[in-house]
Amino acid sequence: MKDLYIDGIWSGPSAEQPESSRTVLNPYDAGELTTVAEAGSADVDLAARAARRAFQQGAWPDTTAAERGELLRRIADLLVRDREELARIESLDTGKTVAEGRIDVDDITAVFRYYAGLAGVDAGRVIDAGNPDVVSRVVYEPVGVCALIAPWNYPLLQMSWKLAPALAAGNTMVIKPSELTPLSTIQLVALIAEAGAPAGVVNLVLGSGATVGSTMVQHPEVDLVSFTGGLETGRKVMSMAAADIKKVALELGGKNPNVVFADADFDTAVDYALAAAFFHSGQVCSAGSRLIVEDSVHDAFVAELARRADAIRLGNGLDPDTECGPLVSAEHRAKVERYISEATGYGARLVTGGTRPDDPELADGFFLRPTVFGDCTSDMPIVREEVFGPVVTVERFSDESEAVSLANDTEYGLAGAVWTSDASVAQRVANRMRHGTVWVNDYHPYVPQAEWGGFGRSGVGRELGKAGLDEYREAKHIYQNIRPQPMRWFAGA
Ligand code: NAD
Repeated sequence: MKDLYIDGIWSGPSAEQPESSRTVLNPYDAGELTTVAEAGSADVDLAARAARRAFQQGAWPDTTAAERGELLRRIADLLVRDREELARIESLDTGKTVAEGRIDVDDITAVFRYYAGLAGVDAGRVIDAGNPDVVSRVVYEPVGVCALIAPWNYPLLQMSWKLAPALAAGNTMVIKPSELTPLSTIQLVALIAEAGAPAGVVNLVLGSGATVGSTMVQHPEVDLVSFTGGLETGRKVMSMAAADIKKVALELGGKNPNVVFADADFDTAVDYALAAAFFHSGQVCSAGSRLIVEDSVHDAFVAELARRADAIRLGNGLDPDTECGPLVSAEHRAKVERYISEATGYGARLVTGGTRPDDPELADGFFLRPTVFGDCTSDMPIVREEVFGPVVTVERFSDESEAVSLANDTEYGLAGAVWTSDASVAQRVANRMRHGTVWVNDYHPYVPQAEWGGFGRSGVGRELGKAGLDEYREAKHIYQNIRPQPMRWFAGA
């Protein structure tokens, strides 16, 4: 198995280790999809050193922004060419529908194109230093060797949000997808190589977080760690990176409020509440997993939401009739089921779902029915903790200030939405929500030009937008005195 890509060469694990391969499962039926190489610490070392050499030799960092932009555009063109294949691989590996896979590929194509342009446009600035004899400018330089670590829910997308700006800024890197979903990233790296990235610029390692991921984070040649994943892992990553004061960007979890006022269009708000909570079986960091509904429409809203949740067609992501796929793994489903089974003990009312589907065709896969809990309060674990499954909790509010306070009653702060036909209410609530993205009368869209990231424990730093590029570059101030003369500060000598 030659699935590791180090210094421009596809290779297998370099040294004998207890596990040198890993079986990748299809979450739809728990069948084996394929087997991939499992790297060890020695491979991470090779990859990090290759990235350092590529950085020091300057072939990539010294290219112009326009040249780097060209590579990014070629990658985008190849993504368009291979869109169907990538969407299919993503569906097989994660369980998501092919339609969702296509959306992911289109999204990252736009991200590569966006950063292809931005690096040249936003290349630095001249400062008026207040002295005609001074030329003062701020320039940007790449940080160096980056370790990019991605989760399993959006393998291609989360990795590309890191790769595109890191490449645009002139860095070299070692990248690792989740061990559960490595397949699309292997394809993506093949496309990056085909597009002409020089050897050593992008190095791919595969394997567990505990060994491969933590070796990447602690490697002395690594200057920056960009991590997307769970809160607990994020804590570990940050503390490991602290030893060398590595730069750290963290995109962590969310417990995202979806606030519905009584004057919102009922059918549209229910429809989006469904998508917010159950898209990709709720395995979305920004999932609208906390529905907060105004008293006067609460009961009707919950009833309609439950009716429609029940009708969601679960199945094989490759089947065009499927609306929702399985969860990613047996372990992850068991974790979600634990939350479900404990919720009623805290007083939550199971309105619908909560069990595996009856359909015998789905018996081998990691399916769970869309689940709605009513009568929820913000002290319950199911309301406070990220469940990351097809589970939505419903709380109720009676006025605007209560709505805002419930929306903000979370340690996270990734995203949220407000639904109302009153433009003033919308603006007031959006302004007061302490979340990195707020949608008004919508849910889930994001654009490459706008920063993405979290307040609170949802993370550190931003992806996408200009800030997403700034994560990967150092700002340097160059101040030149063009008429140097003795200063005579110490005039006595
Ligand atoms: P995870 O934290 O288990 O793993 C994420 C990645 O980190 C994987 O590649 C894993 O192998 C690696 N890893 C695990 N332990 C490590 C360690 N000790 N050192 C270094 N790397 C390690 O997360 P997951 O279960 O794959 O993903 C789900 C989580 O990701 C959810 O919490 C979700 O909210 C979050 N997420 C956040 C965003 C965002 O934009 N904020 C986007 C997608 C997912």
